[in-house]
Amino acid sequence: MFSTTVSTDHLAAAVAIAAENVRNAGGPFGALIVTADGSRFEGVNRVTANNDPTAHAEVTAIRNACSSLGTFDLSGAVLYTSCEPCPMCLASALWARVSRVVFAANRHDAADAGFDDAAFYEFFEGDAADRARLMPVDRVPDDGFDHLEPFTLWSALETRVEY
Ligand SMILES: [Zn+2]
Repeated sequence: MFSTTVSTDHLAAAVAIAAENVRNAGGPFGALIVTADGSRFEGVNRVTANNDPTAHAEVTAIRNACSSLGTFDLSGAVLYTSCEPCPMCLASALWARVSRVVFAANRHDAADAGFDDAAFYEFFEGDAADRARLMPVDRVPDDGFDHLEPFTLWSALETRVEY
């Protein structure tokens, strides 16, 4: 098990990065990945600056860390973020195998500032009717394709890298 002791200095740094990003035409969010050996990788929100709706601070920090370290596995790292991660960022942290996430402001603070984090949490916490109001997500039966073909090919691929 990795040590995941957290530092308020790192959290304060994430908040400072967020504030600086506002002064730099970005959204009011900042994040910091700190690996088990103390390496730090920053991320800022660049959604509007880059026309990239996935460029949240946490995702950007994960991308910077993984790219710099040459890995897709951040086991042992702590993700510090200026605001409670949205569902996309939480899932990104799970995929990156981050060991712990800590945040400063919460989803309601973000909602008060005009961001949809709280509504998106409700998408996952609500029922199918709630989801359909925001964005219907449906499985469509096979018609002219084999929905298992990619998995069949993957299972047979000897050079596959599991993740
Ligand atoms: Zn996010």
